[in-house]
Amino acid sequence: MLFGRKQKNPIKIADKGVVEWKYTTCGYCSTGCSIEVGINDKGVPVSSRGVGSADVNRGKLCLKGIFEHDLFQSDNRGSTPLMRDKRHEPFKEVSWDAALDRTSAEIKRIQEMHGRDAFAIVSTGQIMTEEFYTLGKLARGVIGTNNYDGNTTLCMSSAVSGYKRSFGSDGPPGCYEDFEHTECLLAFGSNLPEQHPIIYWRLTQALEKRKFPIIVVDPRVTMFAQKADVHLAIQPGTDLVLLNALAHVILEEGLEDRAYIEANTSDFESFAEIVKQYDPGTAAAICGIDEDTIRNVARLYGNAGAGMTIWTMGINQSTHGSDGVVAINNLNLITGNIGKPGGTSLSITGQANAMGTREWSSCSGLPGYRALENPEHRKEIANYWGIDEDFLPKKRGLFQTDIFPAIETGQIKGLWIIATNPMTSMTNTDRMRKIMEKLDFLVVQDAYADVETNEYSHVYFPAAIWAEKQGCFTNTERRVNLVTNVVAPYKDSKSDFWIFNQMASRFENGKKVRFPETTEGAFNEMRELSKGRMLDYSGMTYEKIEQQRGIQWPCNEADETGTQRLYVDGKFQHADGKAKLIGLPFVDNNERPENEFPFWLNTGRVVEHFHTRTRTGKIGNLNKFSPTPYMEMNPDAAKELGVKHGEYARLTSKRGDAVVMVQLTQRIPRNMVFVPFHFHDCVNRLTLGLLDPHSRQPAYKQCAVRVEAVADQKAAAVRNKAARTY
Ligand code: SF4
Repeated sequence: MLFGRKQKNPIKIADKGVVEWKYTTCGYCSTGCSIEVGINDKGVPVSSRGVGSADVNRGKLCLKGIFEHDLFQSDNRGSTPLMRDKRHEPFKEVSWDAALDRTSAEIKRIQEMHGRDAFAIVSTGQIMTEEFYTLGKLARGVIGTNNYDGNTTLCMSSAVSGYKRSFGSDGPPGCYEDFEHTECLLAFGSNLPEQHPIIYWRLTQALEKRKFPIIVVDPRVTMFAQKADVHLAIQPGTDLVLLNALAHVILEEGLEDRAYIEANTSDFESFAEIVKQYDPGTAAAICGIDEDTIRNVARLYGNAGAGMTIWTMGINQSTHGSDGVVAINNLNLITGNIGKPGGTSLSITGQANAMGTREWSSCSGLPGYRALENPEHRKEIANYWGIDEDFLPKKRGLFQTDIFPAIETGQIKGLWIIATNPMTSMTNTDRMRKIMEKLDFLVVQDAYADVETNEYSHVYFPAAIWAEKQGCFTNTERRVNLVTNVVAPYKDSKSDFWIFNQMASRFENGKKVRFPETTEGAFNEMRELSKGRMLDYSGMTYEKIEQQRGIQWPCNEADETGTQRLYVDGKFQHADGKAKLIGLPFVDNNERPENEFPFWLNTGRVVEHFHTRTRTGKIGNLNKFSPTPYMEMNPDAAKELGVKHGEYARLTSKRGDAVVMVQLTQRIPRNMVFVPFHFHDCVNRLTLGLLDPHSRQPAYKQCAVRVEAVADQKAAAVRNKAARTY
């Protein structure tokens, strides 16, 4: 009898007729995979594959990367500028000159009537670093508004704020190679296998060579929690309490690294005083992890020769987001786990170039991690750009999450939205609708004309996407990699870089300031401005970056290959050169479940979705695998309410309601439901989004809802379908 392959149809891989493979970097998440796009003999992108020689992904891609070539021809790409006199009227197609002239005239009119800061700009983590640098020059040095921010406030600003408070600067200190050396991995609020599959694959590669414990802290039994050695199903929003308790046990049992603390940190005594109050018994009553488990985890981490902590939105999207990051840094500072192989605090970033905007966009400061509050920094940049130093503000303006309320109060009259979609991504959709209606003028710049926010615009700029342009992205581990223009921009869409340069030429200051004509010219300015700084790009060129498949900063002119880890010498960016240990009392300050709204609402991403589905919602296979707004619910809780698997149910919070399909699973505790956050008119109708006081990031992951069975399933299906949009 014959067994095996001879009795089966052999697997066939379709020949797509690729005649050339072009190098670029994936434009979805911040893992930073090197990718090659295959072009057929008609010049059409038909395939994508991972680059084997790239250290990040070693030939692998996740589901999104594999179908990334489909983006170039995806539906509803903006093909020409659009304009209308009043919002909601039909758009008219216009020339680029007409759209740019009207927008610059509106900016000037609003600024003359209401002051420079009455016009705001909200950008993204999606565009190239050179585009961020150019936009920063335009916003700070030419238009001169201080109400300028990015959508990274919704995802990474707690990490930025926490790094600055602990180390004196932003900049993730570790790298993926730390998995190869660590003896204990602690992961907070990060479902790595779904959110960052290739980073997870790097972790599994390390685990195949050498076993070390994985501890996952998450209220749900996520995919990552299922793979962990220890899963801590924490009460939502109480990570700070657990982290204080871990530090408490480590100090109580003498597991700290005294020599490291004395040589490299400040304020140990006041920190130790605070954590003394968080004995495991007290902490267990708040965070829901039993005393013994807290002690065991503290011992595992404290005794590890090298321990690393990673985290994502479970920490950042909380009213204690920034404190959570500082508490992670505290834990790693007292155990001497910063700047050594396998010992680090590593935030796992979301968007492909969230790091690029943090480094160069001037949203929170000035280019190259300079601060608006520092007179020397203002002088350096004003001189370099050729503007009057006094034109720059002396402190940062509003964060994105404060810009929208300022529109509501009439302080801000005009807005430029670039590659972000607040009508889906911001909390409390109903309030956002009213806010957008209040604007005197809105311009939306996006690759897709059907992006929900564009419903409220007066002018629409069609932007080129990802590999229709050339420039750099920085990934989670500070690796700068090159995106090349695989194909020309779609129809009459233009690169964001071109749009910013054109806008600058319509302002008086824009004629004085030099705006290079190519992204490589902008990159060379960044190299000059970063020379000798922590964020040093001076040793990089496009050619070297492509040859090495990405270079980690700092990389100075004498350096060929960049730097894997920061703070290896124990010297930090605070004035005294030390890292700060900061004692953090826990204040319970968020909405909690109660009688009328008895469930926690937890939100998050699934592997098929990205960035409010503006792109992934249009890619056949990605949309096919997860097209329906749904919630995970515990079967026991569902039974009590008469809610059934596969039917529709209504979720209601104090802000609004949403209809979702029910997926019953034991992965979720009885008092919680989970809903993916990328569907329009769905979960953010419910969210409250109280803000972290330091980072102004919303607490997307914790608010209170009730769940009800829906009698009219047909009507519910219609409502649910409306939330799919694409
Ligand atoms: Fe792209 Fe991230 Fe997937 Fe890599 S893991 S292919 S960077 S989406």
